[in-house]
Amino acid sequence: MIKTTVSADPWAVGWMVRGLVLLALLAAFGVPMGVIPIIAVESDLTMPDPEHTGLVVIPLNAPTPTATAVPAPSLTVTPHTPHVGIIAGHSGNDSGAVCPDGLQEVDVNREIARRVVALLTQRGWNVDLLDEFDVRLNGYQADALLSIHADSCNVPGKSGFKITRAEAGFQPLSADVLVDCITRYYAERTGLAFDPYTITYDMTRYHAYYEIDHNTPAAIIETGFMLDDREILTQRPDVVAGGIVDGMVCFIEGESP
Ligand SMILES: [Zn+2]
Repeated sequence: MIKTTVSADPWAVGWMVRGLVLLALLAAFGVPMGVIPIIAVESDLTMPDPEHTGLVVIPLNAPTPTATAVPAPSLTVTPHTPHVGIIAGHSGNDSGAVCPDGLQEVDVNREIARRVVALLTQRGWNVDLLDEFDVRLNGYQADALLSIHADSCNVPGKSGFKITRAEAGFQPLSADVLVDCITRYYAERTGLAFDPYTITYDMTRYHAYYEIDHNTPAAIIETGFMLDDREILTQRPDVVAGGIVDGMVCFIEGESP
């Protein structure tokens, strides 16, 4: 092992320390007394534009900047509150289908829609209950839109429900998932069969599809027939609404409502 010894001149070190102390004393007393000037940057028009140079110019008469309370970026992601629209079919416009005994489709739809809205609101969702030709439908933006209708009384022996999105190519692909979710959960909850054979242009070219924002997945459901499915539609609207809610939850929050 080689030991290197640096022999410093004790006198030179002593004078260096003295010099530093003197400088420190001069600065400590000289600056407040104005003996030693502080070279400051004056904010005048000859200065280059700080926005382009990146310089931060602090004018002499500016108050001392104080730290503003900037909240620390949160590491937790704020959960998105689902926003959906429910159209009570024919409401605010007409009666819809009318049965010989006076049962009106609009009343059936309204009762179911009202329950769907209540259940989804209880879940913490932001839900709009909409009329058939609600002005809010123009450019409507939401996570989903569902229009609730019921089938007429004039097809004896006919039972079941149907649901569809707009004609192909007019809506986001997620509309298919919305239809699939409601189809499965509605059938499961109500026991009604899905009837894909009586879907009409009234459903695939439903007016609301052409009014809403094209990124809003939308569908229209015919909850059942007012003759053969009357019992569940009018006596157990909570079950009907529950099936729709399960389907909406499946679409928005994922499987297993
Ligand atoms: Zn209708």
